[in-house]
Amino acid sequence: QAAVVRRALHNQVQELKGNIRVFCRVRPPSKDGREERVDGGGGRDGDKPLLSLATRGEMAGRRVCVAPPGGTKAFEFDFDRVFGADASQRDVFEEISHLVQSALDGYKVCVFTYGQTGSGKTYTMLGDGEDDERERDDHSRLDGEPLDGEEGETNPSRGLIPRSIEQIFAARDAAAAAAAEDRGATPPSLEVTASMIEIYNEDIIDLLGPKSSSSSGSTTKHDVKHDASGKTTVTGLR
Ligand code: ADP
Ligand code: MG
Repeated sequence: QAAVVRRALHNQVQELKGNIRVFCRVRPPSKDGREERVDGGGGRDGDKPLLSLATRGEMAGRRVCVAPPGGTKAFEFDFDRVFGADASQRDVFEEISHLVQSALDGYKVCVFTYGQTGSGKTYTMLGDGEDDERERDDHSRLDGEPLDGEEGETNPSRGLIPRSIEQIFAARDAAAAAAAEDRGATPPSLEVTASMIEIYNEDIIDLLGPKSSSSSGSTTKHDVKHDASGKTTVTGLR
Protein backbone atom coordinates (compact mmCIF):
# COMPACT_ATOMS: atom_id res chain seq x y z
CA GLN A 1 0.00 0.00 0.00
CA ALA A 2 2.69 2.47 1.05
CA ALA A 3 4.69 1.56 -2.03
CA VAL A 4 1.74 2.32 -4.29
CA VAL A 5 1.29 5.73 -2.70
CA ARG A 6 5.01 6.40 -2.89
CA ARG A 7 5.04 5.54 -6.58
CA ALA A 8 2.05 7.73 -7.37
CA LEU A 9 3.42 10.73 -5.47
CA HIS A 10 6.93 10.36 -6.84
CA ASN A 11 5.74 10.30 -10.41
CA GLN A 12 3.32 13.14 -9.83
CA VAL A 13 6.24 15.25 -8.65
CA GLN A 14 8.24 14.22 -11.72
CA GLU A 15 5.39 15.29 -13.99
CA LEU A 16 5.04 18.60 -12.21
CA LYS A 17 8.76 19.22 -12.66
CA GLY A 18 8.14 18.86 -16.35
CA ASN A 19 8.26 15.85 -18.57
CA ILE A 20 11.05 17.38 -20.58
CA ARG A 21 13.84 18.91 -18.58
CA VAL A 22 16.91 20.62 -19.89
CA PHE A 23 19.94 20.92 -17.64
CA CYS A 24 23.13 22.78 -18.35
CA ARG A 25 26.46 21.57 -16.99
CA VAL A 26 29.47 23.86 -17.08
CA ARG A 27 32.71 22.03 -17.70
CA PRO A 28 35.73 23.14 -15.68
CA PRO A 29 38.62 24.56 -17.74
CA SER A 30 40.94 21.79 -18.85
CA LYS A 31 44.01 21.14 -16.76
CA ASP A 32 46.51 21.98 -19.50
CA GLY A 33 45.56 25.64 -19.10
CA ARG A 34 45.14 26.30 -22.81
CA GLU A 35 41.61 27.43 -22.27
CA GLU A 36 40.50 30.62 -20.66
CA ARG A 37 39.41 30.46 -17.10
CA VAL A 38 35.68 30.44 -16.66
CA ASP A 39 35.69 32.51 -13.53
CA GLY A 40 37.37 35.65 -14.76
CA GLY A 41 39.07 37.53 -17.50
CA GLY A 42 36.33 37.39 -20.08
CA GLY A 43 35.00 40.91 -20.02
CA ARG A 44 36.39 43.92 -21.85
CA ASP A 45 38.52 44.93 -18.89
CA GLY A 46 39.38 41.38 -18.02
CA ASP A 47 37.60 41.68 -14.74
CA LYS A 48 34.12 40.61 -15.62
CA PRO A 49 33.54 36.89 -15.42
CA LEU A 50 33.17 35.15 -18.76
CA LEU A 51 30.60 32.86 -17.35
CA SER A 52 28.50 33.30 -14.25
CA LEU A 53 25.64 31.51 -12.59
CA ALA A 54 22.67 33.24 -11.05
CA THR A 55 22.91 32.61 -7.33
CA ARG A 56 20.02 34.67 -6.05
CA GLY A 57 16.57 35.67 -7.11
CA GLU A 58 13.99 33.63 -8.89
CA MET A 59 16.48 32.22 -11.41
CA ALA A 60 19.06 31.11 -8.84
CA GLY A 61 20.63 27.87 -9.97
CA ARG A 62 18.78 28.00 -13.26
CA ARG A 63 20.40 30.78 -15.24
CA VAL A 64 23.85 31.02 -16.77
CA CYS A 65 25.20 34.31 -18.04
CA VAL A 66 27.80 34.31 -20.80
CA ALA A 67 29.87 37.39 -21.58
CA PRO A 68 31.90 36.85 -24.77
CA PRO A 69 35.47 38.15 -24.47
CA GLY A 70 35.79 41.77 -25.48
CA GLY A 71 32.07 42.20 -25.82
CA THR A 72 29.90 44.53 -23.86
CA LYS A 73 26.84 42.42 -24.21
CA ALA A 74 26.13 39.42 -22.02
CA PHE A 75 23.77 36.62 -22.90
CA GLU A 76 21.50 34.87 -20.47
CA PHE A 77 20.38 31.29 -20.85
CA ASP A 78 17.73 29.70 -18.65
CA PHE A 79 17.42 26.01 -17.89
CA ASP A 80 15.59 23.77 -15.49
CA ARG A 81 18.85 23.63 -13.61
CA VAL A 82 22.43 24.74 -14.14
CA PHE A 83 25.29 22.74 -12.68
CA GLY A 84 28.39 24.83 -12.14
CA ALA A 85 31.93 23.73 -12.94
CA ASP A 86 32.29 22.56 -9.35
CA ALA A 87 29.33 20.17 -9.53
CA SER A 88 30.37 16.57 -8.95
CA GLN A 89 29.16 13.51 -10.79
CA ARG A 90 27.16 12.71 -7.67
CA ASP A 91 25.48 16.13 -7.75
CA VAL A 92 24.36 15.57 -11.32
CA PHE A 93 23.23 12.04 -10.64
CA GLU A 94 21.10 13.19 -7.72
CA GLU A 95 18.89 14.94 -10.25
CA ILE A 96 18.89 12.00 -12.66
CA SER A 97 18.23 9.33 -10.01
CA HIS A 98 14.62 10.52 -9.74
CA LEU A 99 14.17 9.58 -13.38
CA VAL A 100 15.73 6.16 -12.81
CA GLN A 101 13.15 5.69 -10.05
CA SER A 102 10.39 6.57 -12.51
CA ALA A 103 11.78 3.99 -14.95
CA LEU A 104 11.69 1.40 -12.16
CA ASP A 105 8.06 2.40 -11.60
CA GLY A 106 7.28 1.55 -15.20
CA TYR A 107 7.63 4.87 -16.96
CA LYS A 108 9.64 5.38 -20.10
CA VAL A 109 12.63 7.59 -19.52
CA CYS A 110 15.26 8.97 -21.83
CA VAL A 111 18.37 10.84 -20.72
CA PHE A 112 20.83 12.18 -23.22
CA THR A 113 23.66 14.65 -23.41
CA TYR A 114 24.02 17.21 -26.13
CA GLY A 115 26.85 19.55 -26.87
CA GLN A 116 29.90 20.19 -28.97
CA THR A 117 32.93 17.93 -28.93
CA GLY A 118 34.88 18.29 -25.73
CA SER A 119 32.02 19.78 -23.75
CA GLY A 120 31.75 16.84 -21.38
CA LYS A 121 29.07 14.53 -22.76
CA THR A 122 31.07 11.33 -22.36
CA TYR A 123 32.42 12.45 -19.01
CA THR A 124 28.90 13.10 -17.72
CA MET A 125 27.49 9.84 -19.03
CA LEU A 126 30.36 7.47 -18.35
CA GLY A 127 32.96 9.35 -16.34
CA ASP A 128 36.65 8.87 -16.73
CA GLY A 129 39.09 6.56 -15.06
CA GLU A 130 40.41 9.17 -12.71
CA ASP A 131 39.32 10.23 -9.27
CA ASP A 132 37.06 13.21 -9.00
CA GLU A 133 38.97 15.44 -6.62
CA ARG A 134 36.01 17.55 -5.63
CA GLU A 135 34.07 14.55 -4.50
CA ARG A 136 37.07 13.16 -2.67
CA ASP A 137 37.31 16.44 -0.77
CA ASP A 138 33.65 16.04 0.13
CA HIS A 139 34.43 12.69 1.68
CA SER A 140 37.49 13.83 3.57
CA ARG A 141 35.32 16.28 5.47
CA LEU A 142 33.77 13.28 7.16
CA ASP A 143 36.90 13.25 9.29
CA GLY A 144 37.86 9.62 9.36
CA GLU A 145 34.32 8.36 9.47
CA PRO A 146 33.86 5.30 7.33
CA LEU A 147 32.59 6.08 3.88
CA ASP A 148 29.04 5.02 3.30
CA GLY A 149 28.80 1.68 1.55
CA GLU A 150 30.60 1.18 -1.67
CA GLU A 151 30.97 4.87 -2.33
CA GLY A 152 34.45 4.80 -0.95
CA GLU A 153 35.55 1.81 -2.97
CA THR A 154 34.35 2.78 -6.40
CA ASN A 155 35.55 5.56 -8.61
CA PRO A 156 33.69 8.77 -7.68
CA SER A 157 34.10 10.12 -11.21
CA ARG A 158 31.87 7.41 -12.63
CA GLY A 159 29.06 8.96 -14.58
CA LEU A 160 25.32 8.68 -14.99
CA ILE A 161 25.24 5.31 -16.73
CA PRO A 162 27.13 3.26 -14.11
CA ARG A 163 25.30 5.08 -11.31
CA SER A 164 21.91 4.42 -12.91
CA ILE A 165 22.72 0.74 -13.31
CA GLU A 166 23.82 0.58 -9.69
CA GLN A 167 20.52 2.13 -8.66
CA ILE A 168 18.55 -0.40 -10.70
CA PHE A 169 20.31 -3.37 -9.12
CA ALA A 170 20.14 -1.82 -5.65
CA ALA A 171 16.37 -1.44 -6.08
CA ARG A 172 16.09 -5.05 -7.19
CA ASP A 173 18.07 -6.23 -4.16
CA ALA A 174 16.02 -4.04 -1.81
CA ALA A 175 12.76 -5.41 -3.22
CA ALA A 176 14.03 -8.98 -2.86
CA ALA A 177 15.16 -8.29 0.71
CA ALA A 178 11.80 -6.74 1.59
CA ALA A 179 9.99 -9.77 0.18
CA ALA A 180 12.26 -12.11 2.15
CA GLU A 181 11.45 -10.25 5.36
CA ASP A 182 7.74 -10.29 4.68
CA ARG A 183 7.32 -14.06 4.78
CA GLY A 184 4.77 -15.29 2.34
CA ALA A 185 5.25 -12.38 -0.06
CA THR A 186 6.12 -13.32 -3.60
CA PRO A 187 9.63 -12.23 -4.35
CA PRO A 188 9.57 -9.66 -7.14
CA SER A 189 10.79 -10.68 -10.51
CA LEU A 190 12.70 -7.96 -12.22
CA GLU A 191 14.42 -8.75 -15.45
CA VAL A 192 17.10 -6.36 -16.58
CA THR A 193 18.21 -6.26 -20.18
CA ALA A 194 20.48 -3.79 -21.85
CA SER A 195 21.56 -2.98 -25.34
CA MET A 196 24.09 -0.49 -26.52
CA ILE A 197 23.93 1.09 -29.90
CA GLU A 198 25.74 3.82 -31.70
CA ILE A 199 24.11 6.01 -34.30
CA TYR A 200 26.71 7.05 -36.81
CA ASN A 201 25.79 8.84 -40.03
CA GLU A 202 22.19 7.79 -39.44
CA ASP A 203 23.19 4.10 -39.33
CA ILE A 204 22.56 2.08 -36.20
CA ILE A 205 25.49 0.00 -35.03
CA ASP A 206 25.03 -2.68 -32.36
CA LEU A 207 27.99 -2.19 -30.07
CA LEU A 208 27.35 -5.51 -28.32
CA GLY A 209 26.85 -7.38 -31.57
CA PRO A 210 29.42 -9.38 -33.48
CA LYS A 211 32.36 -7.27 -34.57
CA SER A 212 32.03 -6.31 -38.19
CA SER A 213 34.97 -6.10 -40.50
CA SER A 214 34.39 -2.39 -40.85
CA SER A 215 35.06 -1.85 -44.53
CA SER A 216 33.21 -4.90 -45.87
CA GLY A 217 29.85 -3.38 -44.97
CA SER A 218 28.50 -6.75 -43.86
CA THR A 219 26.83 -5.29 -40.80
CA THR A 220 23.27 -6.23 -39.90
CA LYS A 221 20.83 -3.48 -40.70
CA HIS A 222 18.90 -2.27 -37.67
CA ASP A 223 15.68 -0.34 -37.67
CA VAL A 224 13.72 1.56 -35.07
CA LYS A 225 10.20 0.14 -34.76
CA HIS A 226 7.25 1.48 -32.82
CA ASP A 227 4.47 -0.99 -32.09
CA ALA A 228 0.79 -0.25 -31.46
CA SER A 229 1.22 -0.26 -27.68
CA GLY A 230 3.78 2.52 -27.92
CA LYS A 231 6.74 0.27 -27.35
CA THR A 232 9.87 1.24 -29.22
CA THR A 233 12.47 -1.32 -30.17
CA VAL A 234 15.50 -1.54 -32.38
CA THR A 235 15.42 -4.62 -34.59
CA GLY A 236 18.13 -7.24 -34.80
CA LEU A 237 20.06 -6.33 -31.68
CA ARG A 238 22.18 -8.95 -29.99
P1 ADP B 1 32.54 15.08 -25.25
O1 ADP B 1 32.17 13.65 -24.99
O2 ADP B 1 31.38 16.02 -25.10
O3 ADP B 1 33.24 15.28 -26.55
P2 ADP B 1 34.31 14.69 -23.01
O4 ADP B 1 33.33 14.12 -22.06
O5 ADP B 1 35.23 13.72 -23.66
O6 ADP B 1 33.57 15.56 -24.12
O7 ADP B 1 35.13 15.82 -22.24
C1 ADP B 1 36.30 16.40 -22.75
C2 ADP B 1 37.38 16.41 -21.69
O8 ADP B 1 36.97 17.20 -20.58
C3 ADP B 1 37.67 15.03 -21.12
O9 ADP B 1 39.06 14.95 -20.89
C4 ADP B 1 36.90 15.00 -19.83
O10 ADP B 1 37.49 14.12 -18.89
C5 ADP B 1 36.96 16.45 -19.39
N1 ADP B 1 35.77 16.85 -18.63
C6 ADP B 1 34.54 17.07 -19.14
N2 ADP B 1 33.67 17.43 -18.19
C7 ADP B 1 34.35 17.42 -17.04
C8 ADP B 1 34.01 17.72 -15.68
N3 ADP B 1 32.76 18.08 -15.33
N4 ADP B 1 34.98 17.63 -14.76
C9 ADP B 1 36.24 17.25 -15.10
N5 ADP B 1 36.62 16.96 -16.35
C10 ADP B 1 35.69 17.04 -17.32
MG1 MG C 1 32.36 11.98 -26.19
